[in-house]
Amino acid sequence: MTNKTIAAIATPAGDGALGVIRISGENAVSVADKVFRAFSNKPLKDFEGYSAAYGEIIENGNRLDDAVALVFKAPHSYTGEDTVEFSVHGGSIMMRSILRLILKNGAAMAGAGEFTKRAFLNGKTDLTKAESIMGLISARNEAEMRLSRAAHGGKVAKKIAQIEADLISADAAISVFSDYPDEDIEDLSFNNFHRMLKNAALALEKMLNDYEMGKILTNGIITAIVGKPNVGKSTLMNMLSGTERSIVTEVAGTTRDIIEETVSIGDLTLKLADTAGIHNTDDTVESIGVNLAKEKIEASQLILAVFDLSREFDEEDTALLEQIKDKNTLIIINKTDLERKADISKLERFKSVEISAKCGNGYEELCKEIKSAVMKYDLSPDSAVLLGERQHDCAQRALDGVCEAINALESGCTLDAVGVCVDDALSALLELTGKRVTNEVADEIFRKFCVGK
Ligand code: GDP
Repeated sequence: MTNKTIAAIATPAGDGALGVIRISGENAVSVADKVFRAFSNKPLKDFEGYSAAYGEIIENGNRLDDAVALVFKAPHSYTGEDTVEFSVHGGSIMMRSILRLILKNGAAMAGAGEFTKRAFLNGKTDLTKAESIMGLISARNEAEMRLSRAAHGGKVAKKIAQIEADLISADAAISVFSDYPDEDIEDLSFNNFHRMLKNAALALEKMLNDYEMGKILTNGIITAIVGKPNVGKSTLMNMLSGTERSIVTEVAGTTRDIIEETVSIGDLTLKLADTAGIHNTDDTVESIGVNLAKEKIEASQLILAVFDLSREFDEEDTALLEQIKDKNTLIIINKTDLERKADISKLERFKSVEISAKCGNGYEELCKEIKSAVMKYDLSPDSAVLLGERQHDCAQRALDGVCEAINALESGCTLDAVGVCVDDALSALLELTGKRVTNEVADEIFRKFCVGK
């Protein structure tokens, strides 16, 4: 099937020093030759792949802009097709007029993600690598960028290939055993099938767990700082964020609105909300803040509950403990630089850390405890981690299939029945990497990409 030649602006909208316009498809070079003249007068069709020409974009004999044309020859390009990329001045009006000229000369406007979709269809990339590209482009933090880079480098694809290989061996062995049940073939014992399937299940479980940890690293943790007025919540927020964002005063009840900040602790991102103190109040404005704080507690994945060591605990502290007892909570015992007056035995059943937010003491310990409160184990952001719900869903279906196969084997079902479950698991993995995927699924994936990618 011949694909039409497509073109799009590949750099972001807005004014930049340089901008790139991409043309890909069978006629990419001839379309480019109609709008570009190299200063050497050599047409682009006579250039080797991976070569560059300096020249100008011409419309009706008039020069539109200087340009550098990069020529790629199929299959050695991003899309696997002939491709020309023009680097021009990056003004949005300039870029749009050059794109319009290219479209007038025979290219069609590319759809969202169409270049990458072509790369996928032409076997230049699998889906795990293709999907990582969006993470490379729009990573929200360092961890997301590194996880995307690992996937882009093929780490996820390699892990899935290992699991696939285990399942294919199991499948092949099952077929042989079904076809020649009376042969005494080595390696075809119950124990061997069982071991192959168990290995696949363990590897998939690990990937699914890593996915949850990866999600924590990439999305960040919704965290609420709570405590009664004046215990040091704003000071703690400032200690963590390193800025004077929250208003710190000696008047109780100062932080009336929710102040939000994104804070990095190593690879971890906290989406911190410094709430109003939770306490009984007749002040209407303040009570709005208190209610917001209560809602925030419900919506948070981590609660940092602050208590003041220099004052005796009262019923407000007790009420707060009651409210957070079933949440993922880390107790912060603040003001260790002052004389200890609080009886902290009440806090014993919670994980806690002692700090002085004002002096900065206990910061290291605090970071360690925050990390252990949200990460079940350490996950290096260079690991092979599934990206996105689609990949997770495929891996989960693969695991379900393998577990059913193990159950069928253990409960003495026929090997044919075991084989059907293994086949289900294999199809889910083939869908994950895109070796077997419907057009609808591929369209859905690439629709989420930006135009020009
Ligand atoms: P919030 O109402 O809970 O947000 O409390 P703030 O952060 O506004 O702090 C209330 C008062 O306690 C301010 O005067 C802070 O300087 C003081 N404070 C906060 N943390 C500490 C600490 O660790 N040690 C001491 N000595 N004072 C602190």
